[in-house]
Order: sequence, then C-alpha cells, then structure tokens
Amino acid sequence: MKAVIQKNIKIAPLLSFRAGRGKARYFCKVQSQAELKEVLAWAGKQNLSYFVLGGGSNVLFSDRGFDGLILKLSFHEIKISKEDDNVVFLKVSAGLPLAELISFCAQQGWAGLDYFIGIPGTVGGAVYGNAGWPRQGVSIGDLVTGVLFCDQDGLEEERGADYLDFSYRNSWFKNNPRNNIILEVELKLNKTSSNEILIRQKQILTTRQKNIPSGFSAGCVFKNVTRENSRQDFSFHPLVPLSFREKGVIPAGWLIDQCGLKGYERGGAKISKKHANFIINFRQATAKDIYFLIKLAQEKVLKKFGLNLDLEIEYVL
Ligand SMILES: Cc1cc2nc3c(=O)[nH]c(=O)nc-3n(C[C@H](O)[C@H](O)[C@H](O)COP(=O)(O)OP(=O)(O)OC[C@H]3O[C@@H](n4cnc5c(N)ncnc54)[C@H](O)[C@@H]3O)c2cc1C
Repeated sequence: MKAVIQKNIKIAPLLSFRAGRGKARYFCKVQSQAELKEVLAWAGKQNLSYFVLGGGSNVLFSDRGFDGLILKLSFHEIKISKEDDNVVFLKVSAGLPLAELISFCAQQGWAGLDYFIGIPGTVGGAVYGNAGWPRQGVSIGDLVTGVLFCDQDGLEEERGADYLDFSYRNSWFKNNPRNNIILEVELKLNKTSSNEILIRQKQILTTRQKNIPSGFSAGCVFKNVTRENSRQDFSFHPLVPLSFREKGVIPAGWLIDQCGLKGYERGGAKISKKHANFIINFRQATAKDIYFLIKLAQEKVLKKFGLNLDLEIEYVL
C-alpha cells in the first residue's frame, strides 16, 4: 500500500483545543481518492473503525484516545464546473482549508464564502456541521449545490443540496453514521469585485475579533437554543428577555453567563470570560476537565431555565 499509516499518534496536536491525553492507534494523511480506497479496504479487513478529521477545530476526543484510524484528507483541488457572466460553480476537495478557499475566491472576485472568513477548519468539516456566522444569518449550506461522498467501502455517491438536510449547524452527514466521507463539494458563488469582498471580510473580521476569545478552543461548545431545536417551548419564559423570545433564538453563551459560570475553571480548562459559550484550554487541559465544564453548564442551565443545551462540538468517546 502507498499510503503511510502512522501508529500511536498523540491526538491533542491535531485539534484546535490542543486538549486530551489520548492517542490514535493509527493515523493517515490520504493524498488521493485512490489512496483513500486502499486505506479503507485495509481498515475494513481489520474491522477498524475510522474517524475523518478535517481541521480538528470542532472536535474533542476523550482522554482514552481513539482505538481506530484517524483519517485526514490531504488532496486539495479547486475546479470550475460551470460559469456564466454572473455566477460560478466550483468543485472543491473536502480536505481543503476553508481559509485557503476564501482567500482564493476573494482574489477572483467570487462572493459568498467571504461571510465565513475567520472560521477555522476545512471545507468538509464546514459542510458536515453547516458552519456559519450567526450574526450574518448565513451558513455554508446556503452555497452548496451538491456533494460527492463515499462510504466505508469507498463506494461513491452524489447528492444535491435538497437531499442534504442543512439546518442550523446540522446536515444529513451529521445525522447519519459517521462512516460517510465527504470528498468534494460543489458551491455556487456570485461574481462581483474583489474590492467589495475585501471590504466585507474586513468588517466581519473586526466584529469577530471583538467577540471571539483567543486561546485554544473549539469555537462555540453548544448550539444556541432555537425554536426549532429546543425541546421546550420558551415563548413565555419569564427569565428570557422578550427580544430573544421574539427572534426565537437564545444564545447559549447568554444562558451560561446567567448561571454565573463565566471564568469558571476546572484543571486546565475554563469557561471564557469574554464569551461564555467558549471553553478555553489555558493550561494543558484534559478532555475530562473540558467535559466537566460541559456537564456543569448543561446542568446549571437546565436547573435555572429548564432548557437543554445541545453540543455543537463533537465529543468522541
Ligand atoms: C476560534 C474558533 C472560531 C470558530 N468560529 C466558528 C464560527 O463562526 N462558525 C462556525 O460554524 N464554527 C466555528 N468554529 C468551529 C469550527 O471551526 C467549524 O465547525 C468548522 O467548520 C469545523 O471544520 P473542521 O474541518 O475543523 O472539522 P473537524 O473539527 O475536523 O470535524 C468536525 C466534524 O466534521 C466531520 N468531518 C470533517 N471533515 C469531514 C469529511 N471530509 N467527511 C465527513 N465528515 C467530516 C468530522 O468527522 C467531525 O465529526 C470555530 C472554531 C474555533 C476554534
């Protein structure tokens, strides 16, 4: 087999959280679709489970590590599939860092992705979790027209956006067993001027800098509580401000803050003082430290508000 498979690799350096004590039994950077098929066949023969890691910016593994194969897609291609005077359709490899694609599109004057500037990770990870910037009310699923993916046997399938069930931080991939591997994503972008895009990007980056804490994290830990995802009706909740009830969205950070948890520490992890929906690894946190804070926030919010906080990050046991 051509692919290089490494053994007993520390997981923390692969994650933006930099947290956790565990190792992956196997780790492989896959350089092509053909190589991916080979590696999947190899894993299949040994009955190994696998996990596809993008940029590792929305995931945490338990301190036990992962007794299987962590795969990283390292083939990066951007192709134009169709275009006219106003729009361009791109086919992009899932392992491509989102930042690289955003910068390439800005240079070309192709608008749409500029709203996602500053979101770490890869194109595949963004599609899996339907990443977005809530303040702009847009998510990457709004631009996706189709996805090519494969299953554990390397069998490929194409699906149009209508069959990908995009909703707030959710997609068909997230709702289905995680052995589906996103290979390529088709996006529809609008042609405009680079200048217009760069101005928008600058504005977004300025707001992000004001709101997003620095340090090792995985972004927002919990989903905001919305009318659609909440198990409880909060329309008349006496403790929730009218503005949130009218919008139908209660920010998870606000709920955690109301429970007095900003700045709360456990081991090397703490709930950010700047934005309570972020947990920061400030001193070699274990996954257990972070998980403790996750459970604490969920329990306190449930007790005070009767509302459930659902994870936005993925915690791999
Ligand atoms: C500082 C900071 C700021 C952030 N800001 C935002 C924000 O504004 N908006 C937002 O939405 N998110 C934000 N995030 C979270 C994160 O960046 C996004 O969720 C991102 O899209 C995750 O992409 P990734 O490639 O890192 O995925 P990973 O964390 O590597 O993986 C996340 C999930 O996607 C799956 N996955 C990844 N690639 C594939 C693939 N090719 N096929 C199948 N499954 C795959 C993984 O198996 C895993 O289940 C932020 C994170 C940080 C650290």
